Amino acid sequence: MNRKEVEGIIRNLGAIRHRIEGKKVLVTGGAGFLGSWICEVLVEQGAKVICLDNLVSGLKTNIDPLMDNANFTFIPHDITQPIFFDDPLDIILHLASRASPFEFEKYPIQILKANTLGIWIALGIAKKHNARFLYTSTSEVYGDATEIPTSEEYRGNVNPIGQRSCYDEAKRCGESYVIAYKMEHGLDVRIARIFNTYGPRMRAEGVYGRVIPRFVEQALSNKPLTIFGDGTQTRSFCYVTDQIEGLLKLAFLDEESGLVVNIGNDEEIPILELANVIKELTQSESETEFHPLPKDDPLRRRPDITKAQERLGWAPKVSLREGLERTIRYFREKK
Ligand code: UDP
Repeated sequence: MNRKEVEGIIRNLGAIRHRIEGKKVLVTGGAGFLGSWICEVLVEQGAKVICLDNLVSGLKTNIDPLMDNANFTFIPHDITQPIFFDDPLDIILHLASRASPFEFEKYPIQILKANTLGIWIALGIAKKHNARFLYTSTSEVYGDATEIPTSEEYRGNVNPIGQRSCYDEAKRCGESYVIAYKMEHGLDVRIARIFNTYGPRMRAEGVYGRVIPRFVEQALSNKPLTIFGDGTQTRSFCYVTDQIEGLLKLAFLDEESGLVVNIGNDEEIPILELANVIKELTQSESETEFHPLPKDDPLRRRPDITKAQERLGWAPKVSLREGLERTIRYFREKK
């Protein structure tokens, strides 16, 4: 299934896919959920990829299928520590960061470091090689947004000392770094603000678990679905192949330096309804169980994706039901 999906992404890239061939690309966090999909598409399309990952949230198994490929190099490395490359690099994609709310509580310092010290190292590499730089930022820079749908113009409603601040503020700082390197060194930079994304390879267990993989695993094992709060809070979920297509369009389009763009699906759904759809699609007997809503959990999240449509010629194609079906299939096969 994965191979077909990778081919689908490449098809959807249209003419842009020809710009990938032969490019030397450094991917930080390349063994993670999104990073490993990106590495796979890039290698498939003839790029030479160096993947850095310290494997604290990424998984070696995500990149195992690429290890024998001559165009793929894996270097176990924590991007908050210096690293030097002598051979030329064309593009740096900085994805390295833990991203799950449970991790925000357990590893806030690592998250802060990945998006401050780590991005500083990654930008230093880009500067040395005069390489293009793409930063995967997040909808979390908007905090608990008061404008829905949220466009790139919105400046945010973030609690700087709250439970999520290590992620929100670090990503805001990371964006500031990126813009500073453009201003001071004229670097070609792009910022993707990623909204909730899901699909195969997302982790369900422990501190890594996000809502969709958690609900799918719970439903498949007939355990209660854990709703936080009353489930009226909303999210808008983007299937992974759509996300990767958007990120690669942003990375490989020429003459878009400085572009900051939301990449996500704008189909908004309350969490309780999401739980019911997952129960229906898995034909699960699971009950629903209500738990307290974590502090500062945003009440609504939905991107305005007009800019991505206009500038990247990109729009999500996979509906929530279709994406959930594919994700459920993945988790069933994994069992
Ligand atoms: N959530 C939930 N049950 C869970 C996990 C998450 O109700 O078992 C809720 C969470 O409180 C949030 C939404 O689902 O409102 C999305 O959570 P996720 O961890 O995927 O990431 P977030 O969008 O908050 O960054």
